[in-house]
Amino acid sequence: MSTNAHVILVKRPGTNGTPTADNFGFEECPFPAELEAGEILIKTLYVSVDPALRCRMNEDTGVHYVTPWEIGKEIGGFIGVGQVIKSSDPAFSPGDIVEAQAAWPWVALFKRKQEEQNPLRKVDTSLLGGKLTLPLTVLGLIGLTSYLGIKEKGGIKPGQNQTLVVSGAAGACGSVAGQLGRLEGCTRVVGICGSNEKCQFLTQELGFDGAINYKTEDVKERLAALCPDGVDVYFDNVGGEMSDTVISQMNKNSNVILCGQIAVYNKDVPYPPPIPESTETRIKDMNINRTRFLVLNYADKFEEAMKKLAELVLSGKIKVRETTMEGLENTGKAFVSMMNGGNIGKQIVHVADPS
Ligand code: NDP
Repeated sequence: MSTNAHVILVKRPGTNGTPTADNFGFEECPFPAELEAGEILIKTLYVSVDPALRCRMNEDTGVHYVTPWEIGKEIGGFIGVGQVIKSSDPAFSPGDIVEAQAAWPWVALFKRKQEEQNPLRKVDTSLLGGKLTLPLTVLGLIGLTSYLGIKEKGGIKPGQNQTLVVSGAAGACGSVAGQLGRLEGCTRVVGICGSNEKCQFLTQELGFDGAINYKTEDVKERLAALCPDGVDVYFDNVGGEMSDTVISQMNKNSNVILCGQIAVYNKDVPYPPPIPESTETRIKDMNINRTRFLVLNYADKFEEAMKKLAELVLSGKIKVRETTMEGLENTGKAFVSMMNGGNIGKQIVHVADPS
C-alpha cells in the first residue's frame, strides 16, 4: 500500500443542527515515511462511530475531556482496531492486532508516548474467539459502559423481582445492558427502541420480555402494560420525553442509570440536560437515584469488568450484534446513520481485513 487517506470535518452542523454525511470529507494524506525509533505503522481494520463524537462537531464541545474537531482537518477520537505492519517499538511486532482511540487513516503512524491519554493497546486475540471487532463492542467501551453502569448504578439484587427498562435498547450499549440486567437478577426486562425489526431482535434474539417501538406505539400505555409492578431500574440512553415517561412509572427507591441523552445531542443544552419540574418532583417524592454515570470514572474497575465480559461473551451468555458499513470513506455516513437509528447493535465501519 503506498497511498493513504483520512476523514476530515468539512463543516459543522451547528449546535442545534442534525449532522449529515456532507459534514464529513475524505481526502488523500501523506503515506507515513520511514519509521523513527518508537514508531509503529498500523493498517486500520475497523473503526467505531459513537454518539459522544457529536459534541466534537461543535465549536465548543461542552465537556472538559475532549476538544472540538477543526474544519478541514483530520478528525480523531474514533475507537479503532488495526494491525501492525511495521514497528520500531520493541513492544509491538508486525501482525499484532492493536486498539486505540485516535484518528484512523487507512495507514496510521503511532508513537506510544504521544498517545498517553488513550494508549495504543495490544489486543489479546485469544479472548476474541476470532472476532476482531469485539474490542469495539462488548470487550471495549461499550461492554464496560453497560457492565459498570448496571453494576455500579443499577441497584439490582437477585430475588427481588425487579423490572429493568432500557431505552435505546437495540443499540450497542442498550442491547448489552439489557442482557446483563437479566444476568444480574432482574426478572423482567423491557426495551424501548425505534423499529419493529429492533423490537423483534430484542424479544426473539436477546430474550427481552417485551419491547416498545416508540415511533409507532404509546410508550406510556405500553410500559404500564409490560411493567405491571412498575420500573425498578432504568438504563437511560436517550433522555427527553421518553425518559420522563419511564420515570413517571418508577417505583420508590428505584435507580436510573444515566448513561446518555441522545435525544438532545443535536440541541444546544448542557449535559445532563435540564428535566421538567414534574420529573424532578417524581424523582424527589419517590426517592429515585439519578446521578450522572460516566464510564471513564471507573477506570480502576476496567480490568476486572473486562475479564467478566470476556467470560460472558465467549460462553455465549451475552450475544453481540453489529451493523457494518463498508469503507473508511463512509465513516461520516455511518455516524449519521447511527445517530438516526440505522444500526442494530454496534455501528462499525469495516476498512480492511488483516493480512
Ligand atoms: P447506539 O448504538 O445505541 O446508537 C444510538 C441509538 O440511539 C440509535 O440507534 C437510535 O436508535 C437511538 N436514538 C437516536 N436518536 C434518538 C432519539 N431522538 N430518541 C430515541 N432514540 C434515539 O449508541 P451507543 O450504544 O454507542 O450509545 C448509547 C448511549 O450511551 C448514548 O447516549 C451515548 O452517548 C451513551 N454512552 C455513555 C457512556 C458513558 O460513559 N456514560 C459511554 C458510551 C456511550 P432507535 O432506532 O431506537 O431510535
